[in-house]
Amino acid sequence: MNSKLMISAATALVLMAAPAAGKPKTALSPDARADALIAKMTLDEQIALVHGVMPALMNPMPAGTTRSAGYIAGLPRLHIPDLKESDASLGVANAGRSHDDATALPSGLSLAATFSEPTAQAGGAMIGRQARQKGFNVLLAGGVDLVREPRNGRNFEYLGEDPLLAGRLAAAAIRGIQSQHMVSTAKHFALNDQETGRMIASVEAPEAAQRESDLLAFELALEGGKPGSVMCAYNKVGGIYACEHPRLLNDILKGDWGYKGWVMSDWGAVHSVDAANRGLDQESGQQLDKQVFFAGPLKAAVESGQVSKARLHDMVHRVVREMIANGLIDPPDAGPLDTVKDGEVALHAAEQGIVLLKNDRGLLPLAASAKRIAVIGGHADIGVLSGGGSSQVIPLGSTHFAPPKGAPFWSQGIWFHGGSPLKGLQAAAPGAQVSFDPGTDPAAAAAAAKGADVAIVFATHWVSEAYDARDLSLPDNQDALIAAVAAANPHTVVVLESGVPNLMPWLDQVGAVVEAWYPGGRGGEAIANVLTGKVAPSGRLPITFPAALAQLPNPALPGADLPNETTPFDIRYPEGSDVGYRWFARQGAKPLFPFGYGLSYSAFRYSGLKVAGGKTVTASFTVTNTGPRAATDTPQLYLKSEPRRAQQRLIGWSRVTLKPGESRTVTLAADPRLLANWADHGWRVDPGSYALFVGSDAMTPVLAGSAKVMAASLKP
Ligand code: BGC
Repeated sequence: MNSKLMISAATALVLMAAPAAGKPKTALSPDARADALIAKMTLDEQIALVHGVMPALMNPMPAGTTRSAGYIAGLPRLHIPDLKESDASLGVANAGRSHDDATALPSGLSLAATFSEPTAQAGGAMIGRQARQKGFNVLLAGGVDLVREPRNGRNFEYLGEDPLLAGRLAAAAIRGIQSQHMVSTAKHFALNDQETGRMIASVEAPEAAQRESDLLAFELALEGGKPGSVMCAYNKVGGIYACEHPRLLNDILKGDWGYKGWVMSDWGAVHSVDAANRGLDQESGQQLDKQVFFAGPLKAAVESGQVSKARLHDMVHRVVREMIANGLIDPPDAGPLDTVKDGEVALHAAEQGIVLLKNDRGLLPLAASAKRIAVIGGHADIGVLSGGGSSQVIPLGSTHFAPPKGAPFWSQGIWFHGGSPLKGLQAAAPGAQVSFDPGTDPAAAAAAAKGADVAIVFATHWVSEAYDARDLSLPDNQDALIAAVAAANPHTVVVLESGVPNLMPWLDQVGAVVEAWYPGGRGGEAIANVLTGKVAPSGRLPITFPAALAQLPNPALPGADLPNETTPFDIRYPEGSDVGYRWFARQGAKPLFPFGYGLSYSAFRYSGLKVAGGKTVTASFTVTNTGPRAATDTPQLYLKSEPRRAQQRLIGWSRVTLKPGESRTVTLAADPRLLANWADHGWRVDPGSYALFVGSDAMTPVLAGSAKVMAASLKP
């Protein structure tokens, strides 16, 4: 008999899902419905919902599963569906499913460079829809760890160095995903800011340093996105594994923040049954743990009273409530996969995320008179680079290369997404002769560049999950390649496809630099559209580009000198909560390019700043497009100092699209937490004068003002 027909009338009443909309019609809350279902579950059934396998490692896989990261069988007799989990930071990851098409969004850094919540939400909705079309209902997305360590191999999955920017964009992406009858995670909670030693390193940072930075990013992402699940991290914090960290999970996440969803472990991050008492609700990818702690051992612990029945109930409740609240029960039909249509979302995001870093004498957009264009290097004839690891999306038409020595097998090697910049340029500049040189020999590349009207060098820097960059220099002799080409042709443009902020020893020699990040499946076209001027660049850096490693809080990557990740070590943050540009401001150091920086093909003026105080600060000012073409600007509002100390913080921004000559007034009010310091277990706003500035980036104040703010203590 069909299992759906076997559910009891009482269960049907509890569920009363509306199949057409997938949203419950019952007046009962998700909490009440979850409790009613749990009341019908046996102990074994409850235990079965709190641990799951990784199908991608299984042969054969459980019936009805897809090769992917996670699977937890549902309870058909109670009409509770399976949890089918896929990685999805930047699109639906393939996890070894060959010939399975999916749309690859640009990297998280590119998304963060858009400073655009609608773009993040549209990307999330697209991924959520595709994931459901492939049979998934939980997306391991929402990466919101801060870029504290510029060499981190997963920075490309994250949303930059600022907690407000990262938190808001993660929230928007999660909202998009969960608009599609999906659960999204936010991950990796918390302080998982480098890959080197991720399984053994302990982050040592005072509570204020955590609360005012990395934890604030999570707090904002959870408030605005309400993800069904939070994935705890591999690393330790203060000597305790993040997935069994009572302060992080019980006190902060579920206590202070009142989080109602479930905490799932990262894959291979569970170390004990007692993790259940310490706040972990579900063990994921259980084959990767030393034992399946949340199966037999958890059952025994519940029977012996080591873990209370109430706690197990809470664990299951959290899972089931989120399935109900997010419409996972009887979702509507997802329709057919349409990667052509969805590609438009990726193209639009990539165009907005590209940052123009340098443009001497208007070298870009390429002049119509540029008849001979020499494209050099970076496999620009094949496609655009993507980052490696569990988030890897492999659209049809992608090309594989072997990874560098030392990269782990699960990096999946180096993938170039199709849609090459060369073809994009040939299409966007039909009157020009666009040639290609692979750039493997600097002398040959220089010869190719010499006779051209303009030379465009594509430089790539691959990083991956579990593979941090050793430094910030371009690998494989690409600095020499760029220098050789620039010496041969003064009209040299460099396009970077990278997951880290690169050093640029050749910067003074080239005419223009474009940061394209890992630009996703339609990235080649997006780059061509920006280079040729079809699209005016509008991206702004979501990370600081240092001028030298010596400027970083940790000039050497912590743990990089230790053998084989076997010796535990501590990661210390000399910057405290002053991550990225805040550290540079504190040190008075001049980066290569500051946070928030990006040029346009137009120009903007800011005027008429008015600042009001009170419970918070509110600033309004006017933005005018003084340049020759319609374009988008992103004026930013920063705190410069508060009564206790000089400290810089982004407290607001606006994306403004204006026609030439057009003006708009922007009003931004600060979230009071961004004015506060963490003290005595709460946010404390000191009374007094708060100095602000409006700038085009973190180092370029244009309008300055101040206002008096009242004392306040805000809940944690
Ligand atoms: C990663 C997670 C990912 C999981 C499942 C882990 O190695 O850290 O981000 O979701 O694998 O693939």
